Amino acid sequence: MAVLNVLEYPDPALRVTASEVSEFGHALKKLVADMWETMYLSKGVGLAAPQVGKPVRLFVADWEGNRRVVVNPGIVEADGAERSDEGCLSFPGIYERVTRPAKIRIVYRDENGKRHDETAEGYLARVMSHETDHLDGKLLIDNLSALKRAFIRKKMGKKPRGR
Ligand SMILES: [Zn+2]
Repeated sequence: MAVLNVLEYPDPALRVTASEVSEFGHALKKLVADMWETMYLSKGVGLAAPQVGKPVRLFVADWEGNRRVVVNPGIVEADGAERSDEGCLSFPGIYERVTRPAKIRIVYRDENGKRHDETAEGYLARVMSHETDHLDGKLLIDNLSALKRAFIRKKMGKKPRGR
């Protein structure tokens, strides 16, 4: 396994629309293993492939031991609305209140290609919704007011680049 470099806003690679995964082979399993290692080291609860520079529709998530490998997801139903604090490994140190559906129905495949049809609620629904957004180049900042967006842009822009 290997720890991958997590891209930070405003890296343009975070804005790409990721491609469907078609091969459920060794390369995918290796990427999943590396993403788990990277996510746990970064103390995240979710990590999407575009965040590590791989433009494919894949994310991993672990919310309180609910571990998911999600490939080619589609959110087919969404109910209710909940506001809660949310962070993102691509926005280190930033936590903002974001409104998300309270409950989602999500269909996806796992790393073996097995199909899942799951109803998720609460924070797990939030994590899965946040990570699915990444696959379409949509970021935490897009859910905030213009004023907060401007503040975060300024803060992230001033951060010294470590790469
Ligand atoms: Zn994120």
